[in-house]
Amino acid sequence: MRWLLLVATLIGSSICGREKFLGDQVFRINVRNGDEISKLSWLVNSDNFKLNVWKSPSTFGRPVDVLVPSVSVQSVKSFLASQGLEYSVTIEDLQALLDNEDEEMQQNEGQERSGSDFNYGAYHSLEAIYHEMDSIATDFPDLASRVKIGCSFEKRPMYVLKFSAGRGGQRRPAMWLNAGIHSREWVSQATAIWTARKIASDYQKDPALTSILEKMDIFLLPVANPDGYVYTQTHNRMWRKTRSFNPGSPCVGTDPNRNWNASFAGQGTSANPCSEVYHGPHANSEVEVKSVVDFIQNHGNFKCFIDLHSYSQLLMYPYGYTVKKARDADELDEVAQRAAKALASVSGTEYQVGPTCTTVYPASGSSIDWAYDNGIKYAFTFELRDTGHYGFLLPANQIIPTAEETWLGLKTIMEHVRDHLY
Ligand SMILES: [Zn+2]
Repeated sequence: MRWLLLVATLIGSSICGREKFLGDQVFRINVRNGDEISKLSWLVNSDNFKLNVWKSPSTFGRPVDVLVPSVSVQSVKSFLASQGLEYSVTIEDLQALLDNEDEEMQQNEGQERSGSDFNYGAYHSLEAIYHEMDSIATDFPDLASRVKIGCSFEKRPMYVLKFSAGRGGQRRPAMWLNAGIHSREWVSQATAIWTARKIASDYQKDPALTSILEKMDIFLLPVANPDGYVYTQTHNRMWRKTRSFNPGSPCVGTDPNRNWNASFAGQGTSANPCSEVYHGPHANSEVEVKSVVDFIQNHGNFKCFIDLHSYSQLLMYPYGYTVKKARDADELDEVAQRAAKALASVSGTEYQVGPTCTTVYPASGSSIDWAYDNGIKYAFTFELRDTGHYGFLLPANQIIPTAEETWLGLKTIMEHVRDHLY
């Protein structure tokens, strides 16, 4: 009993030590034309307001979401009013949402420690996710195994679950499922671990999944940025990047989804280490990215690469680094449209579909562009729930509904890959 208390206190104190967001708010700002985009870009890039961008300005009229620290709330409101920019406050009290999330998480961890099964409808620590990956491998030894593909900058192991119904033969065609490359997008890691259990338990029950696994292996990396994920739980819930040092700069971390070798340092990235989209000193500089690249290249037979993010409800395919149409764009669009339809059939959640660059904004050095340019034709990014009501702080009671609908989207893509091996 005493150690339980001690553990509970340690968890409690680590969360208590986290950065507070008292009085901070999230604003949604409407953008109707190019002039408004430039005004907004100036605002979010200005150091004076210390804004944290949740949803970036794009050239295509999407509203922009920004976290406004309490000290800047008044000045940002004045700026927006003086410039005639329309906005609404989507999250009035960010800290209240965070407190709620912490409380639920601690309560659940307490229950799991006293013997309850892993609760898929809750957010978890890295340790708990890794432990559950182990349990899945133990429960389904003929199908699943936990593979270490490398270590993070802070020396945490990076684990992948490999699902293979094949006997012996290496290099079966394979798909890669990635989640949590941006650490604050918690519903992505949670959806990934739910998906892992789903794959394992539905094999030989669900004919579609079974036939997929008879032809292909699935590799699933639920926490692609383990250091960042731990940091969101111990220091700052809004952390997005890796935790690597930047010599000569006080700012830490690189955006691991601008660090892949696909038009590296091109448009939609920043050379400033303090930026949330800092591309890093060179392609693959982040060991978390390099580990995945090496694994995929050594394997040599990946046909599909899917990256789970949040939020915005989008299903995108290459390219992010250019408006140029990808060679397979028509086929990818057709598959993505069908996947979005399957996803929506569960509870009506609507996704927008399109190539990254023209659907959201230019983004160079992203995982799916790298995959696509390296011969992995079926490359997709999901931006999971929601559209901004809670943003990154999606309540835990939406994890399972999100995972369930996403599963139908994923399966639609995987079935297409199964039937179109190349
Ligand atoms: Zn992301």
